[in-house]
Amino acid sequence: IFIFQDTAFDSITRFGTTSFSDTGSEDSCLSRNQSVLYRKSSPHKPSSYLVSKLRSYEELHKRCGPHTDSYKRSIKQLKSGQIDHNSSDCRYVVWVGLAGLGNRMLSITSAFLYGLLTDRVLLTNQAYEMAGLFCEPFPNTSWILPDDFPFKSKLRRFKQNYDHSYGKMVQSSTFNYSTQLLPSYLYLFLSNDCSRQDQLFFCDQDQALLGKVPWLIMRSNVYFLPSMFLMSSFDQELNKLFPDKETVFHHLGRYLFHPSDRVWGLITKYYQDHLAKAEKRIGIQIRIFHPKTSPFEYVMDQILACIRKEKLLPEVGTEKYIASPSKNQTSKVVLVTSLFRGYFEKLNKMYGEHPTKTGEVVAVYQPSHAGRQRTWWNSHNVQAWAEIYLLSLSDELVTSAWSTFGYVAQGLRGIRPLILYNRTIPDPPCGRGVSMEPCYHAPPIFDCKAPTTTVDTGALVPHVRHCEDLSWGLKLF
Ligand code: GDP
Repeated sequence: IFIFQDTAFDSITRFGTTSFSDTGSEDSCLSRNQSVLYRKSSPHKPSSYLVSKLRSYEELHKRCGPHTDSYKRSIKQLKSGQIDHNSSDCRYVVWVGLAGLGNRMLSITSAFLYGLLTDRVLLTNQAYEMAGLFCEPFPNTSWILPDDFPFKSKLRRFKQNYDHSYGKMVQSSTFNYSTQLLPSYLYLFLSNDCSRQDQLFFCDQDQALLGKVPWLIMRSNVYFLPSMFLMSSFDQELNKLFPDKETVFHHLGRYLFHPSDRVWGLITKYYQDHLAKAEKRIGIQIRIFHPKTSPFEYVMDQILACIRKEKLLPEVGTEKYIASPSKNQTSKVVLVTSLFRGYFEKLNKMYGEHPTKTGEVVAVYQPSHAGRQRTWWNSHNVQAWAEIYLLSLSDELVTSAWSTFGYVAQGLRGIRPLILYNRTIPDPPCGRGVSMEPCYHAPPIFDCKAPTTTVDTGALVPHVRHCEDLSWGLKLF
């Protein structure tokens, strides 16, 4: 299906055809054109500056991407270990991920924005467990790190103290600041457990130096993007790109992440079977991190209290028993996503067995209940991505505190969610997010000019504050 329409999202993605491959890496991406049939067009317009920046990034990626002459020259340089200024003018950021899918999508987006700001080409190490989840985002090229990349088989084993780690070099004072001696590649450890030295990456003076290194290999599982808004070197450009700071992930996420045909098939089938007919769709994402400290009854009460307080669903009358509610009457549908089945069962029983006080019919569905997280399984990630996307098709969204799975859904949807607080006494049970942006869970807390001094990085600039669900986290608003 070819659909041309005038929405903010389309101006960002631009592609009007299903095929855009010179490289043979991808022939079809149905979701790119069909998504408009399922999700509301975004009310948030991207700046024209962002749109033109993306177009020039696409040109850069095409020129420097895998299998081009520039790429081959850059690889030679990488292998030599030293910078050769005549070799190639292309520079790269190689993303290496870990953790669950939500975490990965957020850190890819952060790495991409870093690439946009510093004219680096983003290549992603999509190992087996991530294979075939997404379409290629950039036309006529690929963002997948080629199999013959020199360290490809070793990338996963790079840890914090890898020899080429910038943080480790700074810590052990082995880093020579003379540009002649800069290596052709550096490793950046930007995960949730990185050190202060690793986080010097977020300092302007360090960026000036890192900018000269052609290959940056970055391992990350966090949405480190808000930290770039704390850096004065990116300040002007970010203001032009994103006049509305709340929509950074919304725009970049919708630009980057298109479900592959395999995932799209799951999404559209489930949507048509269960969600399409409803007048209103309510997504409830229930993420239990520690079942022992989040007992079922306790969480269930919190969910019900949130539904009541926010008037998300009609109340049920207990007196009359309904044998089989007619499917045709469905006016509200609840999509529950969770690793566990109990919450769905309780809601389903409640609305299946009792009439609502308003006479509306409420249907409740849950696509899967895997029981536990299996990040290394490809099929598990396929299912997770399908559910994140289905959640993003909701009219109203209830998410769990701390969960990147929920952050991605709310960002793609473009809505401030109702967050189920993770507090000992969650009263109120949930509250509206201050923005639709994800939270950066492990931000730097020091002053770049005096890295041993702790500062409140949530109070430095107007559009970065602490998160409602994590007091030390940072988010844009
Ligand atoms: P976070 O841990 O909540 O921040 O989210 P992540 O996506 O990073 O990691 C959790 C992983 O557990 C997901 O990627 C899925 O693999 C799995 N998971 C958690 N909740 C759900 C769910 O509701 N549905 C499905 N299908 N998988 C889930």
